[in-house]
Amino acid sequence: MGDMAVPVGSSGVVELRCAVQCYAWGKIGLNSAVAQLAQHSPPFKLEEDKPYSEFWMGTHPNGPSTVLGGEKETFLSDWIDANLDVLGPTVKETFDGKLPFLFKVLSVNKALSIQAHPNKSHATVLHKERPEIYKDPNHKPEMAIALTPFEGLCGFRPLTEIQKFVNTVPEFAEVIGQDAANALASGSDSLALKKAFAALMTSNPDIVSQQLNQLLERLREKKSSGHDISDQCGDLVLRLNSQFPGDVGCFCIYFLNHIVLQPGEAMFLGPNLPHAYLAGDCMECMACSDNVVRAGLTPKFKDVETLCEMLDYKCGTKEENIFPCHPDPSDPYVTIYDPPVLDFAVARIQIPTSCPLYKFQALNGPSIALLISGSGCIENTANTIPATRGTVLFIPANTSFDFKCNGQDTEIYRAFCVV
Ligand SMILES: [Zn+2]
Repeated sequence: MGDMAVPVGSSGVVELRCAVQCYAWGKIGLNSAVAQLAQHSPPFKLEEDKPYSEFWMGTHPNGPSTVLGGEKETFLSDWIDANLDVLGPTVKETFDGKLPFLFKVLSVNKALSIQAHPNKSHATVLHKERPEIYKDPNHKPEMAIALTPFEGLCGFRPLTEIQKFVNTVPEFAEVIGQDAANALASGSDSLALKKAFAALMTSNPDIVSQQLNQLLERLREKKSSGHDISDQCGDLVLRLNSQFPGDVGCFCIYFLNHIVLQPGEAMFLGPNLPHAYLAGDCMECMACSDNVVRAGLTPKFKDVETLCEMLDYKCGTKEENIFPCHPDPSDPYVTIYDPPVLDFAVARIQIPTSCPLYKFQALNGPSIALLISGSGCIENTANTIPATRGTVLFIPANTSFDFKCNGQDTEIYRAFCVV
């Protein structure tokens, strides 16, 4: 498609066709929100027993979106290059003429790796030293907003909870070792936490799998005799081990908060915050980068030393790890998720049946909107675009337009960048 003619001159909103990724950890067939949404985009053909993991809306070369409606289908990146004003003057200048974010839907059936992302200056160093692993110099802040109940690990637990597990889960205490356990018991500083976490991550894999087997055996016995194992996160350990047998990540749950977001709730994964996605469907928005430092629940390369060194050893509750959103004062149907980065923010738009015509506000930067539920028509200056579940729109900077609703509750997620 690289040599396709690029339609010059943008006139309002355009519709995108988006790439689907089928990684093995995705939900299967129509259980996957990704597959449900992609059904809207021909030539997508559903295979009922295939995993559908990610739906990508943006310009990433591994899954670029294309622009519909011109004489020929064009890569969004080429279309933006040919119509730079769609970014708006400040975003164009700040992000060197590129769309600064990638917007996704994720459908997670099996845990993704325990990971963290470097900040900008660290990413630059990592990329310089090991470009084959850290492929670009950019940071990768991420935000996940639940579409269904969405389960993940995020941030270090309060120290009292970790201490409780040291005292009640002997196999966990054994793996981190007496020194680290003592430091945790006495200390309240982040150095003790760092020491204990590093002790787990660097412990001998034979000892990890031996202790894990012992723990699993004990939990299974306890469970089969009708006892509650939730105080030791028993069901979670059993499930993660079934997905990644013997993996050190199964013990990480005693360090990290286990969070289940309800639809509309969000996590913001800023630099150096340990996290893992475990199950469910979500919207995800991120800066354009591939920089991930992994340390568990993965067959991929683990960089334990870098991860242990870079993490922010700050303890917090589950509630403190849920990212607050706020109503848009200028629009009663909009909730804003505005993380402390320039690269992106997300708006959730919920239009009630009582509103037959909704006006999309103009923003001074680019945005991408995905229709999650409901249907209607986009009334463009030049044309009309019918919209239904799975329709994706690219909205140029400083463009407002009407959405004519078909009389159902309508939900739209819109990622945007304004500088
Ligand atoms: Zn991540």
